[in-house]
Amino acid sequence: MRPNSLLELDRDHLIHPVTSFRGHEARGVTVLESGQGMFLRDSEGHELLDAFAGLWCVNVGYGQNSIVKAAADQMTRLPYATGYFHFGSEPAIQLAARLAELAPPGLNRVYFTLGGSDAVDSAIRYIVHYFNATGRPAKKNIIALERGYHGSTMMGSGLTGLPAFHRNFDVPRPWQHHIPSPYPYRNPLGGDPAAVIAQSVAQLKAKVAELGADSVAAFFCEPVQGSGGVIVPPPGWLTAVRDACAELDILFVADEVITGFGRTGPLFACETESVVPDLMTVAKGLTSGYAPMGAVLMSERIYAGIADGATPDLPIGHGFTYSAHPVSAAVGLEVLRLYTEGGILANGQAVAPRFKAGLEALTDHPLVGDARSAGLLGALELVADKTTKARFAPDLRLADRLAARGYANGIIFRAFGDGVIGLAPALCCNHEEMDLLLARLALTLDQVL
Ligand code: PLP
Repeated sequence: MRPNSLLELDRDHLIHPVTSFRGHEARGVTVLESGQGMFLRDSEGHELLDAFAGLWCVNVGYGQNSIVKAAADQMTRLPYATGYFHFGSEPAIQLAARLAELAPPGLNRVYFTLGGSDAVDSAIRYIVHYFNATGRPAKKNIIALERGYHGSTMMGSGLTGLPAFHRNFDVPRPWQHHIPSPYPYRNPLGGDPAAVIAQSVAQLKAKVAELGADSVAAFFCEPVQGSGGVIVPPPGWLTAVRDACAELDILFVADEVITGFGRTGPLFACETESVVPDLMTVAKGLTSGYAPMGAVLMSERIYAGIADGATPDLPIGHGFTYSAHPVSAAVGLEVLRLYTEGGILANGQAVAPRFKAGLEALTDHPLVGDARSAGLLGALELVADKTTKARFAPDLRLADRLAARGYANGIIFRAFGDGVIGLAPALCCNHEEMDLLLARLALTLDQVL
């Protein structure tokens, strides 16, 4: 098919996520055709260094043949097996067991989903079920962070603290509440990490007091906020909020959809502080984007509460046709093998200091107000005035300009509307590729205005 007709078919039929529909029709699609390692090739023949791992998901990089083989073998043997009616498939069982082995201690029970949004939604449903089943039905409210992203389902988008995901959707928010993001760069207390942590804990406690301690079920957070602008809280923040949740008798849910699977260094970001959440949601790096899959991991306590609750003999009415899909599970098993025995996790950890140093060096650039990173998750925040930290005027369309200049320079990153450039290179990135990424980024900054 000629690229032009593909362009027209796209314009006329395909709805793209999180785009202005008319804006996309006018701009047209960039068709990605193939990928190898850190690089993508589009239908115009451009080679692009993917500094965003697709959508912060292709952590092992493109073109990993062993994953293709694992998927093909499973598809040939058995393309589908339901988890309903007590059936199952070997890769799904093995993957659940492997995740339980690798996850923070005690997160032994795994429910598979198709991605992150339905993992968050499933976690909410299980939490509601847990408190109903264990005789505390008043515990319904859930607190999350402003600027947090927890997916696009009707309930999960209410936990998401980004206005674009609420606008014109009449999101029902019977239980979802927010406290401010710690956001060190834009927090007046930002220079004092201990004060930022104390502030978050105080805000959480105040929100629980406002709602009534007996009515709050859980606190959800990303260990590093991704879609809100890669906001890295100070070290110790995760432990402090986790301890506050225990003290307040509310569940602590870590949404590791982005931060999981080596993105911030260890396999899970919670490991950095030895934090064990009550529930954890994962997706993206679980299969590295080679097949759709997410999961909710839960502690034995939550599982037992649901299992032995008020109606132990009746089915727990939550399930998807494609939960624990055997092809995705086979992919997940091979992806996990690549992270561990394949050395990809270790490679990501080895290249991360170069990434951090490169981003920090760019704070000398006149546009860069802040550089922040955790492992291979990073961001530059561009400002019109470094002293006042003023953002660029929206009519400058900085994000569009950055994306266009980046494309011309052979690099893909995430340009957020408020001047933040999000970066999440694959963990297979070598030192030369990292230097190329940083050079193309610097060139783009030089040319954007
Ligand atoms: N939670 C977090 C922290 C995410 O970053 C995302 C997606 O970016 C989601 C949930 C939703 O995941 P998905 O897009 O796979 O539905």
